[in-house]
Amino acid sequence: MIGANVWRRMLGVDRATVIEEIDFDEESETVVVHVRPRRSTKRRCGRCGVRAPGYDQGEGRRNWRTLDLGTLMCFLQADSPRVNCPAHGPTVAQVPWARHGAGHTRHFDDQCAWLVTHTPESTVCELLRVAWRAVGSIIARVVAEGRADHDPFDGLVRIGLDEISYTKGRRYLTIAVDHDTGRLVWAAPGTDNKTLNVSFDLVGDERCQKIRLVSADAAEWIADVVKQRRKNATLRTDSFHVVSWATEALDEVRREVWNQARKGGMRQHAKELKGCRYALWRNPEDLTPTRSASWPGRPRSTRPCTGPTC
Ligand SMILES: [Zn+2]
Repeated sequence: MIGANVWRRMLGVDRATVIEEIDFDEESETVVVHVRPRRSTKRRCGRCGVRAPGYDQGEGRRNWRTLDLGTLMCFLQADSPRVNCPAHGPTVAQVPWARHGAGHTRHFDDQCAWLVTHTPESTVCELLRVAWRAVGSIIARVVAEGRADHDPFDGLVRIGLDEISYTKGRRYLTIAVDHDTGRLVWAAPGTDNKTLNVSFDLVGDERCQKIRLVSADAAEWIADVVKQRRKNATLRTDSFHVVSWATEALDEVRREVWNQARKGGMRQHAKELKGCRYALWRNPEDLTPTRSASWPGRPRSTRPCTGPTC
């Protein structure tokens, strides 16, 4: 027989939750676990957690979706009374297993939020059997709690600014990352001075003064805003764009030389140049045997290359 401790672990609830009864609904094939908060965690405001006098029974018993038990959907069911908080007035009482206003447990929220950072939202909806609107609400709850505990703009010293496309068509987000933590700290639709100024407004002038280095592509609008908002910061072109421009330039040269070889009747050399695009991106010592074979500069013992690249 499975004891209460094992059930608590399976359901992801702690000792503040009392498990009263476990039912299986044959018709809907769901497990319903009847729970209640332990006395010490009862009658607290759902918004601020302060102990408050009872107000009424609210909407009676309600369900919170929790993580599946194998292939079965599982719900925690409990009363949801209201308390009269001195700061927030009549508010649904806090429960230890879920965030305020949520229809899912804390563990379900956390797993869903983690999944959407690794896989498309449509996959998450199918896997967890939730509507995409519910996923949006879960993300908002988890992010709000994270933001309340940690300000992403605190301690910024070296940041990177860039633009990335989203959805189909030419729609872009401006993003800011913290180079020291590797985390995304801000993102907003648009790629112009106004959009970026909003980011610096959120950081605030005092924290802006602590930013020592900003990396970005060569966009003038980024340089303009950085000079205006943090003129003493060092602005550098990020390595991704430098490498990207260098490889584009290298390929342009390769195509020119290939055309010269082709027009000059150097058929073998033209053929080698045509297939060496990816080999040229690497250092000769890093080439795999396959790539090395397509590199026109490789040493030959029998017939030294006399083509233009050599
Ligand atoms: Zn309150």
